[in-house]
Amino acid sequence: MIGGGHNGLVTAAYLARAGKRVLVLERRHVLGGAAVTEEVFPGFKFTVCSYVCSLLRPQVIRDLDLPSHGFEVIPQESTFQPLPDGRYLFRRGNEADAFQAIAKFSRRDAEAYPRFGRLMARLAKFIAPTLTMTPPDVGSLNPADLRKLYALNKQVKTLTEEELYTFARLMTMSAADYLDEWFETDALKAGLCSSGIIGTLLGPRSPGTAYVLMHHYMGEIDGAYRSWGYVRGGMGMVSESIARAARSFGADIRVNADVRRILVKDGRAMGVELATGERIEAKVIASGADPKRTFLKRAAAPRRHLDRTDRRLHREGV
Ligand SMILES: Cc1cc2nc3c(=O)[nH]c(=O)nc-3n(C[C@H](O)[C@H](O)[C@H](O)COP(=O)(O)OP(=O)(O)OC[C@H]3O[C@@H](n4cnc5c(N)ncnc54)[C@H](O)[C@@H]3O)c2cc1C
Repeated sequence: MIGGGHNGLVTAAYLARAGKRVLVLERRHVLGGAAVTEEVFPGFKFTVCSYVCSLLRPQVIRDLDLPSHGFEVIPQESTFQPLPDGRYLFRRGNEADAFQAIAKFSRRDAEAYPRFGRLMARLAKFIAPTLTMTPPDVGSLNPADLRKLYALNKQVKTLTEEELYTFARLMTMSAADYLDEWFETDALKAGLCSSGIIGTLLGPRSPGTAYVLMHHYMGEIDGAYRSWGYVRGGMGMVSESIARAARSFGADIRVNADVRRILVKDGRAMGVELATGERIEAKVIASGADPKRTFLKRAAAPRRHLDRTDRRLHREGV
């Protein structure tokens, strides 16, 4: 497994749990990738990149028994927005408290807010099962693909026509446009918009951010939808607990192990070479590093081994 980010570690843990011999190679001195805790100043540990946890699938937490390896989420129960004029918006999870807080700005918004939350949670619940599903090939007549398409269609039919219409619009709208349709209070819209742009490098008026906003209603802690939380020990504990689970199943994990090349023989990946020159053979290589790095920078002589489409992408630098 190239890369000890949390996704690579999950892959390693599941493979080890299935009885495979697994070796994780992480380039940095610390595991976790973007889900990492580092000692920035001596004696002080910080979550240095991603910072809030929720979308880690409950099934993964259960399968790997992460709480027994130190994983603990402290729920984020409220948001606080101070305003330049001295007022503030303090939203708590409790519906009655949220109503009071928003009604100070607009009674209309306070009344719309629970309806908005319920609709977003409903749509998020509808899309959540597809996150762990290998998508069916829509053009295929293979019975396995057709079965999956049928199941998806059944799921779509659980939505009302209005919900389906909203769902389709959410896929392309901006968070700002969508929220303008619901609310008039800028402070409320600004706070909600932050969920639409988080981690995207987009602004609230960029198309697609309405979906990101809805995506965040998929957050789930212990079965409670729309829950977000902070991890005790920082985000690095997400990765560390997964690494502990992987080790408990027998996986071997090395840090300071920079994979310089994926070795390819007769069209098959058969090992890796580290920056130190050490070569390690494996029957299967998986990578948690991004695809560009994996296929174009690390796969030896990619031009020879990738097919025509891949080579075109390579030329275009995709
Ligand atoms: C600024 C920012 C904020 C975010 N905030 C949140 C948030 O609050 N909550 C949330 O849920 N998500 C957040 N995300 C998204 C989330 O953090 C990432 O999607 C997730 O951590 C990606 O995990 P990964 O394991 O797939 O990849 P990565 O974390 O990128 O891990 C890849 C690993 O591979 C290693 N690697 C790369 N090349 C090599 C090589 N050649 N040899 C060996 N190792 C190699 C890297 O060092 C790294 O450890 C945020 C993302 C960003 C950028």
